[in-house]
Amino acid sequence: MLQSPNAPRQQQPDAAPGFSAADDAQQQLSKIAPSEAEFRQLIGEENEGTLARFVDNKLSVLFWYRPPQKPDFVFGAQIALPRLGQELQAVVREVEPALRGEICVALLDDTAKPVAISHPGFHAVWKRPFVATEIGETLPHWEIGVYLLNPAKLTQSAHTLKLTLGLLIAVLLLAIGVGSWLIVADLGRQLRLARQKTDFVSNVSHELKTPLTSIRMFSELLAEGRVTDRAKHRSYLGIISAETARLTRLINNVLDFARIDRGEKKYNRQRCDLAELVRETAETYRPHLEANGFQFTCELPESPLFVHGDRDALAQVIVNLLSNAEKYSDSRKEVVLQVKSLAHPSPFAEVKVLDRGLGVPVRCGEKIFEQFYRAHDSLSNGIQGSGLGLTLARQIARAHGGDVVYETRDGGGSCFSLRLPRVDSAK
Ligand code: ADP
Repeated sequence: MLQSPNAPRQQQPDAAPGFSAADDAQQQLSKIAPSEAEFRQLIGEENEGTLARFVDNKLSVLFWYRPPQKPDFVFGAQIALPRLGQELQAVVREVEPALRGEICVALLDDTAKPVAISHPGFHAVWKRPFVATEIGETLPHWEIGVYLLNPAKLTQSAHTLKLTLGLLIAVLLLAIGVGSWLIVADLGRQLRLARQKTDFVSNVSHELKTPLTSIRMFSELLAEGRVTDRAKHRSYLGIISAETARLTRLINNVLDFARIDRGEKKYNRQRCDLAELVRETAETYRPHLEANGFQFTCELPESPLFVHGDRDALAQVIVNLLSNAEKYSDSRKEVVLQVKSLAHPSPFAEVKVLDRGLGVPVRCGEKIFEQFYRAHDSLSNGIQGSGLGLTLARQIARAHGGDVVYETRDGGGSCFSLRLPRVDSAK
């Protein structure tokens, strides 16, 4: 028992077990409250409380109580801190079962020594807990610390998490990158296609108008009966028939392209002699080429070369290739048409159309087969076209199990080859 600052000090006979009575250690008491004035200052007007002080670098905790009936008396008890640690051992052991295998909980005193731990025998650098919190003012500098039983496991998990997150971010970035690239590429493709379609409409209108103008002009001249010269007469008729053929070719190409695009193109396939078909087509086209100053050579095999195909469609491919050879020839007006039978890689028939013209610009060898694509446009080269001839030629050839390919020609010019699977002559 402590006496209030203005009361005399008295002896407290019974002290609670585990606590030493304040009067038992008069010496200690004087250390806790060296002067009555100081003690009164510390407890203020309160009726009860705790008092924690460091005396000789040792923590000392005192509980005190002032009965309201006798305010001049103050009863106090000092806590035996080692005993407190033992009593709290049971509380510290109450670790959440899910975490028991992962963490150790320790009650640390003011010198960071464990006074109670959940896993007896566990050792750690007590000053470096994983997480810690102070207990409060009653026990200053006492802490509850949590330690990892297996820190390497956490490091490993953190590493795995870091790796997973890193990979996830990398994959996300990659996906965003690829997605953006695809969008931009698609946008570019759409824009190009839109531009090509516009060009196509103006090209086709022009291609339709030019032959029509010639046909109208020469037919009017003939109709007026003013052309008396027989040679001129024949030449005008030749022009009219050539321009009509050009018009027919263009209209056929546009119509066929539309049919193939809609999946409505029907082929009337039958066994036919490709050499004979090429010969007939070449002879129909020869007058036109020769009239325009071309030297036209046709190299055909002696024996028939059978393929399974639609005669009109295949003739259209050959005419498109011949017409291109003519259109894209410059000063060297030479066109060669060759038909060959080849055995490798499989038995097939090959029709080659060779010219000594402008040739296809580098890196455009495949693009020229795209719809509406023109490597030599009317603006830069003044050559009219729709950008459909080769697209159609390839589509027709592929529908027959073959292909049309482009190769540069040694010595200048182009070489286009139509390849078709050969069929047995007996079939
Ligand atoms: P176009 O109506 O423009 O001739 P095509 O589809 O037949 O359309 O040809 C596509 C492009 O391929 C042409 O615009 C031209 O640039 C190129 N090309 C086709 N044939 C030849 C050739 N024999 N020589 C050089 N370039 C050619």
